[in-house]
Amino acid sequence: MTRTDYDDFLYRIRELHDLHQIDGWLQWDQQVTMPAGGSGDRAAQMATLSGLIHERLTDPRLGELLDRLADAPGLDDAQAANVRETRRDRDRAVRVPPALVQAFARAKALAFDVWQAARPADDFRSFAPHLEELVRMAREMAAHIGYAHEPYDALLDEFEPGMSAAAVQAVFQPLGTELRGILDGLEGAPEPRTDFLTRTYDPARQQTFCRALIADLGYDLERGRLDESAHPFTIGNGDDVRITVRYNPRFLPSALFAAIHEAGHALYEQGLDPAHRRTPMGNAVSLGVHESQSRLWENMIGRSPEFWAHYFPRLQALFPDELADVSAAEFVRAVNVVRPSLVRVEADEVTYALHILVRFDIERALVNGAVGPDGLPELWRERMRHYLGIAPADDRDGVLQDIHWAIGSFGYFPTYALGNLYAAQLREAMLREIPDLVAQVGRGLFQKPLEWLRERVHRPGRLHPAPELIRRATGAPPDASHFIRYIRTKYGALYNQAL
Ligand code: ZN
Repeated sequence: MTRTDYDDFLYRIRELHDLHQIDGWLQWDQQVTMPAGGSGDRAAQMATLSGLIHERLTDPRLGELLDRLADAPGLDDAQAANVRETRRDRDRAVRVPPALVQAFARAKALAFDVWQAARPADDFRSFAPHLEELVRMAREMAAHIGYAHEPYDALLDEFEPGMSAAAVQAVFQPLGTELRGILDGLEGAPEPRTDFLTRTYDPARQQTFCRALIADLGYDLERGRLDESAHPFTIGNGDDVRITVRYNPRFLPSALFAAIHEAGHALYEQGLDPAHRRTPMGNAVSLGVHESQSRLWENMIGRSPEFWAHYFPRLQALFPDELADVSAAEFVRAVNVVRPSLVRVEADEVTYALHILVRFDIERALVNGAVGPDGLPELWRERMRHYLGIAPADDRDGVLQDIHWAIGSFGYFPTYALGNLYAAQLREAMLREIPDLVAQVGRGLFQKPLEWLRERVHRPGRLHPAPELIRRATGAPPDASHFIRYIRTKYGALYNQAL
């Protein structure tokens, strides 16, 4: 058999995939099992590996292969998608000069260290020059990568290919207006009781419950693991997809919903088409779609009354004293409490997207050069008051609260809110096509929704960019109306208010 260009290409992209997976296992080990003393050596190992990945991706031989394959006859859709996606990754890698990549890596490491000290000290002034430097470099990278309308597009494209700042803005604009109206509608509604969430819950029993729950959802523990780490995460692809959570004995929802959230991510990775393993087609299409899977399972299924109709008696059996005076309805209201707060990671489903709008407005202005770091603390307060009606007194819970800008990730935030919007749109389509979905969830049966997601979202891999994937799965391009409808209906019922 003659060795074709595509075979040669396949060999190279599989090698690249393996190197990325190995990098993932080094990260998993670092966060789950590695002794603290190993961090210096580990940083060196990871730097070596990313150098190797960069070298392989920018190899001129791969470039020649991609050129020839671009107009090669006889490639099927999946093969053409592998060529297109590899071309995209490679273009991003070759366009930015190596000296800039290295300078950015050094600046990020330094900025992260400064941010770690600046946040608890509420000291934005020490962080500002580092942020300014990162923004300058990010703009320079955007100029090298190229963009259609504004520098922010080039950065967003790394996380949500196929989306532009203008397209995000078009979706976010009505979202902000509607959510603010819903918040106003909830003002003055009686507060649900939440006292029982902060009683003491034995971590070992929490773990037992989480493990059984994620197995019910369809997460395959023969091809996965559940461990503990400081921050929950999911890592891996195909036949080895691992998740972590953290058990807080004094706040029951923490691990419970983190487990469902991470299982949602893991179901996506486990559900990618095995026929395309170790190629772009066997990988997730975007961070927004990834987040749609975690949010759909965590919030739309996992925080629904029907879900807890089935699971609350089981949870109560595991914690008979702690939950003796609590009903399933009270539990559902408690885990869906809406309360505008200063901190994004603690936000509820209604206010979460508003936190993202604050960040999107600010980072877009930063990257496009409309504001400098000096004006940020005040701009942050102004945007918070605009969207959430509250503002932090300090910068610790203001402009310093997130890690993203400190590690140079500009353009990442929108993917969180896009995930919510995609999830609601997928849920609506699913409800149309699985009329007994609510009844199924109410019996702890998740086969039908999982199979629906497998077919429409997981197995297509990177065949189409996210907006097109959503359009094909739901019959309409992404927009905010589905999410707004979902929020109005759910919270109108929970709070007994006309929203
Ligand atoms: Zn997530």
